[in-house]
Amino acid sequence: MKPVFHEKMWGGRKLEKFDYDLPAGDIGECWAISGHPHGRSEVENGEFAGQFIDDLWKNHGELFGDPKGKVFPLLTKILDAEASLSVQVHPDNDYAWKHEHELGKTECWYIIDAEPGSYLIYGHNAKNKAELDDMIESGKWDDLLRKVPVKTGDFFYVPSGTVHALNKGIMALETQQSSDTTYRLYDYDRVEKSTGKKRELHIKQSEDTITVPHKDPQLDIQTKTEGKNKFTTFVQPPISPFFAVYRWEVKEPVTLKHNIGKYTLVSVINGTGKITVDGKDYDLKKGVHLIVPATVNEWTLDGSLDIIASESGEK
Ligand code: ZN
Repeated sequence: MKPVFHEKMWGGRKLEKFDYDLPAGDIGECWAISGHPHGRSEVENGEFAGQFIDDLWKNHGELFGDPKGKVFPLLTKILDAEASLSVQVHPDNDYAWKHEHELGKTECWYIIDAEPGSYLIYGHNAKNKAELDDMIESGKWDDLLRKVPVKTGDFFYVPSGTVHALNKGIMALETQQSSDTTYRLYDYDRVEKSTGKKRELHIKQSEDTITVPHKDPQLDIQTKTEGKNKFTTFVQPPISPFFAVYRWEVKEPVTLKHNIGKYTLVSVINGTGKITVDGKDYDLKKGVHLIVPATVNEWTLDGSLDIIASESGEK
């Protein structure tokens, strides 16, 4: 897939480490695998070269196991937080369809890189709705927001309704529902360079959608070692209804199949190697993103590869 880049006031230049030909400016987001209208992925090579995921979803359902859903449900991004992102929350499917006419947004982060001492915002300390609204309206951000230390290799599951922010010095691979609805709760009173204005806040929508009290999800992260290879499952249904996310640390050849879904999203975050499908080899290196379609039953990985993969939880 061809990545699509987005400039952000909090972005930087660290995505260059994936050897991308980055456009000028502060690039915050690489939309790596996306069928969302705000950044559609185009197929780079092979039979469907030049076509976009959302069109393939409509016209070639066999690639995705003839899905029932109207839209390609997942979105993979790499984020470079040179500065901190706004403190934000995303709606669930019901609220998002009603107010934004798109999917809600449950997301998760695999931390590719975190500078020493990095932390992020995850959850809040209000005990009930009245306390939440009061702390927001009187700007008691230090009391309200939970700071969580973060290091390279960590994983965070961020269900819709969770107050959150990636902070400066963090690079993350995000797997999320295909949605671009963000309700900004607090933006550190920053002014955008290009407009000279503060970015819009969405206090009412935030208060409507924040889960109170905050509850940490109980994850069941499982790692298995096979020979020199290591396979981690970070989340999967039913804990995470919309997607499963895996890390594959490959050092010797391994043949894999789809696990819970019919097609698999693959992002190489480090190393080099190849993927073999039906006797044909394709080179892999850090920064390469691909979809193994439902028409492929199994594939072989070879080389030294660090991969984050995901599957939709949609039936
Ligand atoms: Zn978010």
